[in-house]
Amino acid sequence: MFQTDYAQRVFTEVSERTPWEAEFLQAVREVLLSIEPVLKANPGLEDTAILERVVEPDRQIKFRVAWTDDAGRIRVNRGYRFEFNAAIGPYKGGLRFHSSVNASILKFLGFEQVFKNSLTGLWMGGGKGGSDFDTHGKSDAEVMRFCQAFMTELYRHIGPDTDVPAGDIGVGGREVGYLFGQYRRITNEFTGVLTGKGLDFGGSLARTEATGYGLCYYTQEVLRLLKKDSFDGKIVAVSGSGNVAIFAAEKATQLGGRVVTMSDSSGYVYDPEGIDVEAVKQIKLVDRGRMSAYVNTHPKATYVEGRRVWEVPCDIALPCATQNELDLSDAQGLIQAGVTLVAEGANMPTTPDAIEALRAAGVLFCPGKASNAGGVAVSGLEMAQDSQRLQWTFEQTDEKLQSIMKSIVANTLSAAERYGLGPDLFNGANIAGFERVVNAMTAQGVF
Ligand code: NDP
Repeated sequence: MFQTDYAQRVFTEVSERTPWEAEFLQAVREVLLSIEPVLKANPGLEDTAILERVVEPDRQIKFRVAWTDDAGRIRVNRGYRFEFNAAIGPYKGGLRFHSSVNASILKFLGFEQVFKNSLTGLWMGGGKGGSDFDTHGKSDAEVMRFCQAFMTELYRHIGPDTDVPAGDIGVGGREVGYLFGQYRRITNEFTGVLTGKGLDFGGSLARTEATGYGLCYYTQEVLRLLKKDSFDGKIVAVSGSGNVAIFAAEKATQLGGRVVTMSDSSGYVYDPEGIDVEAVKQIKLVDRGRMSAYVNTHPKATYVEGRRVWEVPCDIALPCATQNELDLSDAQGLIQAGVTLVAEGANMPTTPDAIEALRAAGVLFCPGKASNAGGVAVSGLEMAQDSQRLQWTFEQTDEKLQSIMKSIVANTLSAAERYGLGPDLFNGANIAGFERVVNAMTAQGVF
């Protein structure tokens, strides 16, 4: 497993301290394994206890969220914010509202966010938060009352120069609007305290599209540099049908790919003619319905209940739903069907054994903390626009996004090259993200 005593010791200590935090341990293990070449080249790092400090959040906040449903019943959920590391900028990372949310999941997301934000080259530290509140089946009024109750506690911990949350699973434009409104009312301040805001009140053009578009720009650059190829004519499998999946499918189609699948947690749609993304937007974003409705208007498509998209043969796979949604047997199926590239739109969607199998089979594997960094990158650009009280055009923002995604690929490959790893996108991303944070922490003294 580990090649250095230092990484092994730190991983053992973290595992013994919180053995129940499975997702967090999975994320820590991946990063520690990847950055071992840095530890070997810099044995003095152990004396600075840098790993012990990097794996420990600056602060963890947990709170009660009491709100009233439409029937007048008082409900209670748990709210969280993990302020993980602010060495390179204010804490930055989304809020997730989903019944599966717990401390381990948010801690893993906050940890990943530190290195992802570092890769963007912008001044953003890492954090994550959320609640076990599920927006499915709730009325707009219930979602509003929940968001107001959530922000009534969260507001005291965040601020435009302290901690700037955004959306994630279950938190889209509607929720960000309610959260922002409550923050503004409580503080009597109009500041860029959240990103992903509406375009009429401090939002950035291209933020909604940014994660999915960025994923495709990253993939396009990897294909160009490492395969002298492009999306053109490729069969693409996308999982999920939320914010990331919809705009990944849209951009992949614009770049010449044929997206044949999309899904939700109930099942997937296969459309051999290419998914009609506008129809998916109508179902998921306007009607707030289920993917199964797609076949009502697209008779050549099929809906497969309770299964994952990875059984459909494809050239490019873009997992865009949730963590650990592509496992070893999915990876083996994809390899057998001839997949050439897997790029993560979701955070940690591929299990460690699946990553190993894909990489061993020569499949180009693009890790989420690099390939899905476009969303937070445009959040960083939204913060810049809010500070200036100016809004850039869609084209200006999209151009900056493209250039950030290209520079992430370049920095990743150059970090891998420096440690003699060849064109290793996976370890290169962890190393490049880690090095910037370590340099900043070292320069700022022990904390
Ligand atoms: P959304 O809530 O908009 O969409 C989530 C999608 O994933 C839905 O289709 C949902 O289906 C599906 N899904 C959720 N949980 C499961 C599950 N357990 N099994 C199968 N499908 C599931 O979220 P986003 O699109 O914003 O986020 C998707 C992923 O991308 C997450 O991992 C998130 O952390 C990551 N990400 C998001 C960014 C952003 O800017 N939004 C930025 C970077 C990463 P259903 O409706 O049935 O629940």
